[in-house]
Amino acid sequence: MKKDNVLKILNRLATLLKKKELILFLDYDGTLTPIVSHPDKAILSLKMRKLLNKLTFLKRVTVVLISGRSLADLKNKVKLKKVVYVGTHGYELPEGMIFLRSDIFAKQRFLYGFIKNRLKRTLESTPGLLLEDKKIILSIHYRMVAEDKKEYVKREIFGILSPFVKQKKLLLRQGKEVFELRPYFSWNKGKAVKKIINEVKGEKSIKKMAVIYVGDDETDEDAFREISSKGLTICVGLKEKTLAKYFLNDVDEVGKFLDFIVKLKTGKRIKW
Ligand SMILES: [Mg+2]
Repeated sequence: MKKDNVLKILNRLATLLKKKELILFLDYDGTLTPIVSHPDKAILSLKMRKLLNKLTFLKRVTVVLISGRSLADLKNKVKLKKVVYVGTHGYELPEGMIFLRSDIFAKQRFLYGFIKNRLKRTLESTPGLLLEDKKIILSIHYRMVAEDKKEYVKREIFGILSPFVKQKKLLLRQGKEVFELRPYFSWNKGKAVKKIINEVKGEKSIKKMAVIYVGDDETDEDAFREISSKGLTICVGLKEKTLAKYFLNDVDEVGKFLDFIVKLKTGKRIKW
């Protein structure tokens, strides 16, 4: 199905955006900042920062940034006070919205500690292994391991992890030269989004609210699925397979769309 660029149909969106309450979910990398070679270099432009800041000061508008980055990393990159931050693909929710029982969390931490020790002992003599501990998710990167050692390292890592995977103590995802460990239960950006919508909504009806989600990742698809019947789903970049109903070409167009919302909500005249 051919999708519309959301900037081309803004007149049709005015009714939706004029609803009393707006929740705006935004992914970070690739949505608010262009994709860069190293994650540390993904910095918000001054223009985008100003727009986000303006949005957060609008009445009855909630801006939620939802990212695969850890909560601490995301907050540190954005540093805007009134934003609601969600980290680690939805696993790290804002304070007071814990979904993970503390005893399960403690067990998970114990398990990660054990795995980290085993990895360090087994692969001590093979440099280049990078462990990224995001508390709920543990990533094991082997991109920097010497080419001729990679197969060996992969086998060793897999050997250490597989008993826990078989016993359903953790979920293992393999990415590009990375093993990613998660707790053994299903949670994703979609479920986090649902929880946040319910929290913001309270007793009010969802019909009085506008929900918008803008993202470019595979992991955003869960959120698109969750929101599809309730609001506006926008993917950044034209993808063949996405559940989003609309698209924006790039970060620049995301900026234009956010600017449109600010102007509409503040009653400024819009020129296009
Ligand atoms: Mg992204």
